[in-house]
Amino acid sequence: MPRIGECCGLTDLKEKIRAAIANEGPMPVAQYMAICLGDPELGYYRTREPFGSEGDFVTAPEVSQMFGELVGAACVSAFERLGEPAAFHLVELGPGRGTLMADLLRVASLRPGFVAAARLHLVETSPRLRQIQESTLAGAPLKPAFHDTFDTIPDGPVLLVANEFFDALPIHQFVRTPGGWHERVVGLGADGDLAFGAGAARIPDSDVPDSFRDAPPGTVFETQPAANAIAEGLGERLAGDGGAAIIFDYGYLKSATGDTLQALYRHAYDDVLAHPGEADLTAHVNFEVLAGAAVRGGAASHAVLTQGDFLLQSGLLERAGSLGAGKTHKEQEAIRDAVERLAAPGQMGDLFKVLALASTPAPFPPFDSAS
Ligand code: SAH
Repeated sequence: MPRIGECCGLTDLKEKIRAAIANEGPMPVAQYMAICLGDPELGYYRTREPFGSEGDFVTAPEVSQMFGELVGAACVSAFERLGEPAAFHLVELGPGRGTLMADLLRVASLRPGFVAAARLHLVETSPRLRQIQESTLAGAPLKPAFHDTFDTIPDGPVLLVANEFFDALPIHQFVRTPGGWHERVVGLGADGDLAFGAGAARIPDSDVPDSFRDAPPGTVFETQPAANAIAEGLGERLAGDGGAAIIFDYGYLKSATGDTLQALYRHAYDDVLAHPGEADLTAHVNFEVLAGAAVRGGAASHAVLTQGDFLLQSGLLERAGSLGAGKTHKEQEAIRDAVERLAAPGQMGDLFKVLALASTPAPFPPFDSAS
């Protein structure tokens, strides 16, 4: 029984996880992450309103309409470069509040052929967020079909966008101990609270990348099989049916050791084990491996750009200028702030990366010089 005073900060989901561990033993970090985000009753995306100034974090489309508009312009270019298919599937993975798609479609509507050819599909597991997406898109020229996974998108060419989707998929962590590498698990500490540990079974050395094998005890490395499986399926689809995908997320360009699992709770970093189901949990995306999975599936991948480079080469400053024309000083200031947040180094500009995948060379203009 918890003593009085121990209750504070405990969530129902924490109790549920503690009970599961007490019954079944420690769980891999991947399982902990999947439960925290996706538990059908108490998971973070099922219950919380994570986005915006009231929530736990602000994503690029929520910072400014300019983000979705520039992604929309990139998608119109890709549509042209794919030969203006008579019918294609416009897909977004993890659309949040639907803001990116609403802004994208406003720009894409300027090209009637795009909207006439497009069928809109949103891949979203949260029933609550589906409702919000539906209402955000109520005035849009396309009505969304919802999917639990990318696998159920019908055959045909695909144009896909995703922002901060892959970082929400469960990762596995492995930790080096003096006796070798073990999966990192969440168990119960001596005080009965959640605690990280090393799983009982040693993992075979062949599962550890060569360059990490002799790392010092305490070193952590991560794998992202859930993200890679989606990227590989996407790669197969692009290769088979044609199309292009543009993927934004924070992450790193080359495989490296390090623990990137993080919790955000009311705009501040939090202990990953403190508020399961109440804090957002994410991990940095390994873009080298993600792109590799898509290429294994058959797609061409283009040199990854930083979000800052992508947006500036897509015309962010010009768009900011025209959006600010005739506005008050205060409104112009807000637009300048948004440009900084989206594109400046030290903000989203260099932490976020952009991966372009396609069945054809260079589908999105900013990647022309990088590919
Ligand atoms: N793209 C949005 C939201 C990012 S948050 C934005 O930029 O504002 C992650 C989104 O992915 C949420 O909509 C969440 O419900 C959804 N999501 C998380 N895991 C998912 C999964 N396994 N399958 C489908 N959607 C998922």
